[in-house]
Amino acid sequence: MAHVESWKHGRVCVIEFGNPPVNGLAYAVRRELLAALDAAEEDPGIGAIVLAGRGDLFSAGADIREFGRPEMSRAPALPQLIDAFESCSKPVVAAIRGTCLGGGLELALGCHHRVASAQAPLGLPEVKLGLLPGAGGTQRLPRLVGIETALNMIVSGEPVPARALAKTALLDRVVDGDPLDAAVALAESLAAEGRPPRRTRDLRVTDSNVQALCQFARGAVRTKFPQYPAPLRCIDAVQASAGPFEEGIALERSLFLQLLWSPESQALRHAFFAERAASRVAGVPAETPVRPIRTAAVVGAGTMGSGIAMCFLDAGIPVRLVEANREALDRGVARIRETYEGRVSRGKLPAEERDRRLALLTPTLEYEQLGDADIVIEAVYEDMAVKEEVFRRLDAIVKQGAILATNTSTLDVDRIARATRRPADVLGLHFFSPANVMKLLEVVRGAQTAPDVLATAMKLAKTLRKTAVVARVCDGFIGNRMIEQYVRQALFLVEEGATPQQVDAALEAFGFAMGPFRMSDLAGNDIGWHIRRRRYVEKPHVKYSRLADRLCELGRFGQKTQAGWYDYRPGDRKAYPSRLVDELIARHRTELGIAARSIDDREIVDRLVYALVNEGARLLEEGIASRASDIDVVYLTGYGFPPWRGGPMFYADTVGLPLVVRRMRQLARIPQQDPDFWKPAPLLARLAEAGETFGSFSGAGA
Ligand code: NAD
Repeated sequence: MAHVESWKHGRVCVIEFGNPPVNGLAYAVRRELLAALDAAEEDPGIGAIVLAGRGDLFSAGADIREFGRPEMSRAPALPQLIDAFESCSKPVVAAIRGTCLGGGLELALGCHHRVASAQAPLGLPEVKLGLLPGAGGTQRLPRLVGIETALNMIVSGEPVPARALAKTALLDRVVDGDPLDAAVALAESLAAEGRPPRRTRDLRVTDSNVQALCQFARGAVRTKFPQYPAPLRCIDAVQASAGPFEEGIALERSLFLQLLWSPESQALRHAFFAERAASRVAGVPAETPVRPIRTAAVVGAGTMGSGIAMCFLDAGIPVRLVEANREALDRGVARIRETYEGRVSRGKLPAEERDRRLALLTPTLEYEQLGDADIVIEAVYEDMAVKEEVFRRLDAIVKQGAILATNTSTLDVDRIARATRRPADVLGLHFFSPANVMKLLEVVRGAQTAPDVLATAMKLAKTLRKTAVVARVCDGFIGNRMIEQYVRQALFLVEEGATPQQVDAALEAFGFAMGPFRMSDLAGNDIGWHIRRRRYVEKPHVKYSRLADRLCELGRFGQKTQAGWYDYRPGDRKAYPSRLVDELIARHRTELGIAARSIDDREIVDRLVYALVNEGARLLEEGIASRASDIDVVYLTGYGFPPWRGGPMFYADTVGLPLVVRRMRQLARIPQQDPDFWKPAPLLARLAEAGETFGSFSGAGA
């Protein structure tokens, strides 16, 4: 089917464009639209034009498949196309049936009138990719809705339903249902009137306090987004809309190009594409059938089990929650109730919705009740023997065709699968704590996991509003295997002379949501304690700091015990430095014979971030992760890595791999350092030598 079709309705020409899935304004669409516009303008029988998107949307903007390719700017580029519509001698009415975002809204702004369906989302989300609307949006929107609303929409990037804009000059009419008829009726009356079209560019911004509004907005974004240049540039461009149109457009263009090359926008665009790439799994084509997931079961109602159960309840999927003992079950159910109560009292959830979700939960002590679940997720203690026993029981009870998943953080998923007679139905679904909040879901693909099981897990992740990344089996998968090296370095730094506060502050200044010690206190230092004991008993040759274990021996598990690397006070989330911890560290250094040295923040950041990068390179080479960008997604969505740096692997690429390797060689020479630790992973060394990047590495396959 052609991208663009036109038909006549009396004196009105309807031009309808389509480009699945979101009517992206690709080169072919733009070219056909221009041709259709010209034909309508030349036709003496036509008095007015209606422009509509095919299906139930207008357009979500540029076609992202063209991003970074020559087609993107091939004439007619979007600004030229919009200019052509605005300059048309006959009135053009946009009929907005649904989604109208980015370049789609900019195209509608170039039309002379707009009719929208009430719930159609209208927005300019470019700022979320570190950009500004570069096809006239910053100049035309304020002329139609005023400076304040335009600033809100452009700086937040959030869409607004058409009904909320009904009183502005942006929309001539807002209707329930399909706006096409109303748009045609409006076009007919405009054709009958024969007046010249009302061009947005000829309107004037009527606000009298433009300067003050923009100054206020600047103050707000400087505090809220100190790392991002785009929100400030959006404000600069919107402010220019109060002046002559041509000048404003020229400023918008130059700011757009400036942002396009900014490292922040490159990182945000990388993250956007990385998330999309992560949903494609090798050996699992898009047409792979998926198994229906209508009911779920969760085994273990502890921290994770109760959080995972809520993910399903939030998605409207009934859950059976099974426990080994009554107290633990009651505690788990109470935790779920409290979470929902909290949301209701904060006004985030209507009380009826809480009741509806809780009604989907069936707590039980009987495994037999799990028989008909479509998926079972195990979240019992991190102990192989316990998990094997649980899977043997599940194998005996749960119906054939059900998916059996483990939430293990570190254990061998293949071994767990072998406890059943159906290893093809088994995989890891590694949620992050708190499971009902964190976006990341590591999908752990066992050696025998069936493609349709993986495809179902990826689809389920979407239903649960998670970002899924596939990992192969290894101790710690992607996220935790890397974080272990990062935490090891954090502990070495403290042994050598830094304080936990200094390490946290350095990483937070780099942009991490939380430094490593505050993060450990939040997650619970005891979790790592058990894992470390197992690991380092197995690998006595690996240098490791016992500092964290000594902390645990004092019962300082973190926030849950009100004491960890920091002290905590009831009813207060602040972390206070602890004298006891300082003494512990001093004693520890004396015992190791280490004279504390002063360590600068640059060394702290390089050591922690390059520890991630080096382990990431190993994961890639081993095929545990199938792309460098998957690792970035894990760190951006699960570990608070600064979004404007694009994830550890992208960050290393922007630094330049030869410089990363060079710095690692310097770090290896620091006294107390473990030269083995800083040996560049073979893949990193190879890519650096060849002048290539992680982004260019096509992977060892997952
Ligand atoms: P937890 O100790 O809070 O909960 C475990 C629960 O399992 C307990 O309530 C226990 O009574 C129950 N249980 C034990 N054996 C059982 C059995 N045979 N049948 C039914 N219930 C049983 O532990 P958690 O922190 O929720 O961790 C659970 C799993 O999730 C572990 O594998 C852990 O590694 C993993 N995990 C934990 C985190 C985290 O941050 N806590 C994050 C990701 C993954």
